[in-house]
Amino acid sequence: MPRFMLGRTHVPHRKNTAEAPAQRMPAPEQVVILTSQHIGAPATPIVKAGDTVYVGTKIGEASGYVSSPIHSSVSGKVKKIEPHLLSNGRSCMAIIIESDGQMTPDPEIKAPTVENIDDLVSAVRESGLVGLGGAGFPTAVKLDAEKKGLIDQIVINGAECEPYITSDTLTMIAKADKVKAGVEILEKFISAKNIAIGIEANKPECIAKLTEIFADDDKVTVIPLPSTYPQGAEKILIHNTVGRVVPEGKLPADVGCLVMNVTSVAFLAEYLETGMPLVEKCVTVDGSAIKNPMNVICPIGTSIEKLIEFTGGFKSEPGKILYGGPMMGISVYTTEEPIMKNNNAIVAFNKKDAKLPPSRNCIHCGRCVAACPMGLNPTLFARAMKVEDSRERVARLNEAKLMLCMECGCCSFVCPSVRPLVETNRLAKAELRAAQAKK
Ligand code: SF4
Ligand code: SF4
Repeated sequence: MPRFMLGRTHVPHRKNTAEAPAQRMPAPEQVVILTSQHIGAPATPIVKAGDTVYVGTKIGEASGYVSSPIHSSVSGKVKKIEPHLLSNGRSCMAIIIESDGQMTPDPEIKAPTVENIDDLVSAVRESGLVGLGGAGFPTAVKLDAEKKGLIDQIVINGAECEPYITSDTLTMIAKADKVKAGVEILEKFISAKNIAIGIEANKPECIAKLTEIFADDDKVTVIPLPSTYPQGAEKILIHNTVGRVVPEGKLPADVGCLVMNVTSVAFLAEYLETGMPLVEKCVTVDGSAIKNPMNVICPIGTSIEKLIEFTGGFKSEPGKILYGGPMMGISVYTTEEPIMKNNNAIVAFNKKDAKLPPSRNCIHCGRCVAACPMGLNPTLFARAMKVEDSRERVARLNEAKLMLCMECGCCSFVCPSVRPLVETNRLAKAELRAAQAKK
């Protein structure tokens, strides 16, 4: 354990949906499966309009090392394949499938044979598993680090620190046996000596349950973390559970760590048992505009509109709808947007809660600096963005270590002047990436 903890911002928890089991929604009339639901190159469609597909049929092939295949989440017919504008401003292709309402599993699906790490990496790649906690990094790439002998520590993320979101909490409660089975698979094929499971202290039931089921496993330690934000951010989690620091520009594997979300671990066990790839998600639907907050298990590609309709709809007109929680979530521009692999929540605020007070001048109070878990000074990014000369701007952003910003939102949350700090950082990062691409 480290001597001090990173990430000390107190945000309201609002875990309203932690007590009730998730509800499974019936197949929607159509699903929109995006080719880009992960970090890396989009998948390449391998079906065409008119093709018959089943639940689990592969419809897009991974198009690079850092990429992931995609699968149909319903049985039915491919209606069309067309370009789609994502809420983050990027675009990709979308495969639109009309459901036959039967949810027939693909008859070709069978549990993979896994006898060594190569088999495991190939199977996980085929499963379409990506980081389910929100990052969407292809899991097969993470596991591949084992082949290079890099991993000596596994860190399992059960922190779920974003307000409202409880889908991982439900995994730890309702699927604790699958989490155990997933950990046993990792223990079998990954040579790590230790496994740390980090869970925020505001989930005592999860801590008790996992401590109990791993009581006879000397390799596994369940570590209660402070209920402060952002305990679940990868670099913070690694630091706060095993005391290692991931250097700038490096990955967890560079400090010997394999980090997996607790729901990803449970999915791994289910996949090796059944062979059914990643085709559904448990999504927390909550926020002040939602009539009946709940967790819903839905086919990937279900529209936000249908998902919210299933929960009972809005209780008041929404002012803002987010993919994800209020700290790191992205506003959606239409409720026709589909659920993706890495979405674990849809949070909708009413007009009053969505309205931010007007931004005022910086009063140099330093709270944003004190709140930043990465030790950054967010005011430097804002100041750099005002520099007219683009070279000078880029130089200043690099000097202030902008790329270390993980967009956690702590700086914006604590700012008494309501400065749009994290938004500025996102814009600045886009500029740095563009400058890098030009080079
Ligand atoms: S600068 Fe980035 S990492 Fe630091 S608090 Fe703001 S959003 Fe989080
Ligand atoms: S918290 Fe806001 S007001 Fe205070 S220094 Fe940072 S940007 Fe300025």
